[in-house]
Amino acid sequence: MLMETLDYNELAVPGVRRLEPYTPGKPIDELEREYGVTDSIKLASNENPLGASPLALEAVRGAAEDLWLYPDANGYHLKAALAARHGVDPACITLGNGSNDVLVFLAQAFLRPGLKAVFSQYCFAVYPIATRMVGAEASVAPALPADHPMALGHDLRALYERVDPDTRIVFLANPNNPTGTWLPGERVRDFLASLPGHVICVVDEAYTEYAESDELGDASTWLERFPNLVVTRTFSKAYGLAGLRVGYALSNPGVADLLNRVRPAFNVNSLALAAAEAALKDQAFIDESRRMNAAGLVQLRDGLAALGVGVVPSAANFVLARFDRSGAELNEALLQRGIIVRPVGNYGLDDYLRITVGTERQNQRLLGALGEILGS
Ligand SMILES: *Cc1c(COP(=O)(O)O)cnc(C)c1O
Repeated sequence: MLMETLDYNELAVPGVRRLEPYTPGKPIDELEREYGVTDSIKLASNENPLGASPLALEAVRGAAEDLWLYPDANGYHLKAALAARHGVDPACITLGNGSNDVLVFLAQAFLRPGLKAVFSQYCFAVYPIATRMVGAEASVAPALPADHPMALGHDLRALYERVDPDTRIVFLANPNNPTGTWLPGERVRDFLASLPGHVICVVDEAYTEYAESDELGDASTWLERFPNLVVTRTFSKAYGLAGLRVGYALSNPGVADLLNRVRPAFNVNSLALAAAEAALKDQAFIDESRRMNAAGLVQLRDGLAALGVGVVPSAANFVLARFDRSGAELNEALLQRGIIVRPVGNYGLDDYLRITVGTERQNQRLLGALGEILGS
């Protein structure tokens, strides 16, 4: 049989047939190859503009000596450090190759065709992918309207109304990506208290280190009270380790036991384990990252306002900016100037761009380029 006559889509499982792949930020190298530009900047993937924690880099160099050995499949040392940090037992922790990994484990462990996951419109793109890949149904709650003070944010009432006997997971991001919006911790606690016992609630705190107020709370401190709570965290954002891929879930040990059954044996590599453990100790780096981010958020918000561009409220390290024209076109004009941001048409946000907070100079360059493009 000729290979071309094979209909691979027919062979694939139904969930995978309909899957839309994740759209990543454009790598700098790709931009420079395709556009022949140099000195480019990337404000597209919510990476830390300060780079990685120096303590983490040092740990990676040390761990490189042992690259020929398999990593510790149970991540003993990193789990011990995380357990101490969060005041939980190591048995509550599931390590992931990025927190993306643990989101997939959750879908594999708790979803199947006939069951549902509930999440919000404009939520993180990985929730629908993880849900659909295992053949489960995505039940999407409308987001708060664009004229709401928390524009495009999660609407807890709308999410609650979608929960039914077939629902097994609710995904919440606090703060959310791509909007940057947040939920007061108190409201999330009330929501958790209202959920029936057959529903796992995943509170994704990928950006929590950047939140400037205590208003969001720390969901990891609610684990004892809510046996159906799963909190996910990552080293990709404030800790500056996106390239190493390491994140984790905190949950009841019963949930962690299930997640660890589907987890590939050596999913977190030895460099990532060492770097994450060291990064946890680098509070000075996190403090500096937060300080720079807070200043950058103000710089971007004010600079965009001066151009007549509004932003959605953000407690993260990016802003979602609303334009009076197509985000895809603006993105193209920025790429030609060596600046990578994130168009969000794939989220149904055609007139928006998501812009990661960079260094002061990078933010200035972005604002200057946008001023040029919007003025012409
Ligand atoms: C970036 C991000 C993650 C983390 O992804 P990693 O796989 O840990 O790099 C998780 N959730 C949200 C909402 C994010 O934006």
